[in-house]
Amino acid sequence: MNDDLEFDRRHIWHPYTSMVDPLPAYPVVSARGARIRLADGRELVDGMASWWSVIHGYNHPRLNIAIENQLKKTAHVMFGGLTHAPAIELARMLIDVTPEPLQHVFFCDSGSVSVEVAIKMAMQFWDAQARPEKHRLLTIRGGYHGDTFGAMSVCDPVNGMHERFRSVLPEHLFVDRPRTRPGTPLHPADVEQIESTFAAYHGQIAAVILEPIVQGAGGMWFYAAEYLSHVQALCRRYDVLLILDEIATGFGRTGRMFACEHAGVEPDIMCLGKAMTGGYLGQAATLTSTRIAEGISADGGVLMHGPTFMANPLACAVARQSIELLLAGAWKAQVAAIESQLREELSQYASHRAVADVRTLGAIGVVQTRDPVPVAALQQIFVEADVWIRPFNDLIYLMPPFVIDRDDLRLLTRAIGLGLDAL
Ligand SMILES: *Cc1c(COP(=O)(O)O)cnc(C)c1O
Repeated sequence: MNDDLEFDRRHIWHPYTSMVDPLPAYPVVSARGARIRLADGRELVDGMASWWSVIHGYNHPRLNIAIENQLKKTAHVMFGGLTHAPAIELARMLIDVTPEPLQHVFFCDSGSVSVEVAIKMAMQFWDAQARPEKHRLLTIRGGYHGDTFGAMSVCDPVNGMHERFRSVLPEHLFVDRPRTRPGTPLHPADVEQIESTFAAYHGQIAAVILEPIVQGAGGMWFYAAEYLSHVQALCRRYDVLLILDEIATGFGRTGRMFACEHAGVEPDIMCLGKAMTGGYLGQAATLTSTRIAEGISADGGVLMHGPTFMANPLACAVARQSIELLLAGAWKAQVAAIESQLREELSQYASHRAVADVRTLGAIGVVQTRDPVPVAALQQIFVEADVWIRPFNDLIYLMPPFVIDRDDLRLLTRAIGLGLDAL
């Protein structure tokens, strides 16, 4: 194992790490429910759901069977010129569970690519309407939409490292991250900024792209539903499309099946990923309305995208089963219970000397510290406390699998206290 770890350190990149001075990586042998087993026999309670995705827990019997059954038929087949039941059934379900106007589905292999496709849809739509001058995107600071170039261009300009890629990134329009928190009245500065940007630039803007209600990897920030509905109203007034990136928030995480439901907002284009397959396989989707889908081809053109692993049958089969588990409905009570326990147990840290802010929404709990945290040192403290929590910058946060029980969640919230005391 030590040889393997050394090889890993020297030869394999992990997310956002240096090959010169990598952060440590802990070897995993298996995972089940809300627990991850390490090679040294230690069992960690998982606070991350493997980046929002493993909502039903690891090694779920019904998800396993969905994959096994599909595997006996075929693991993969190209989607160009061929189709299959797993894709058709999954598309039907996605159309059913998402807002009514979304009727057309593009499958792809990752969230970042689904954002690229959403951007292409918006650009091609205006192009086909003979409005090629509408080619810019408008977004809010503090966002995260993925790591490919199109997606990166609408990530927060500072923590998305636009400086480094300035020469090749398109210049889109940014307004400040909404100050208006959930449950508070719209801040006049938020309204003023977004309205004046629309008024000045709408002729150039193809679409607004936002993470609804919860901004994830860009800063774990929650904002009011009223802001989202206001943006939708402006989009309608100024003939601008609305793209909602529900890759992190979709499938129950915020307490609604999709976060846009908090605001009753229906986007023109929606990106899904992460939890779509229950965290089993990489697969994502971009959905759009009939107006946009048909508009894209108004000039006789085609939507210019077609990934190799588009609609992979194993991924579609497990995604379909994952959504079936959601439709059975247990997640609502689970997320509500996680939310109230997180609120109760994390609020005690609000007065901690190292803490700047504590916030919870749905099955998401965030403790924001005054200064950036030492990730490797905290990680070690957490692993010694038998939990898996991976902080970044000044954020220690939890978004556990929905199936986590009270005691395990308590272990996670306690461990955060241990981490804070060590700062
Ligand atoms: C993770 C994420 C993405 C990118 O998805 P990948 O599958 O990692 O490419 C895009 N948008 C949001 C909101 C995300 O959380």
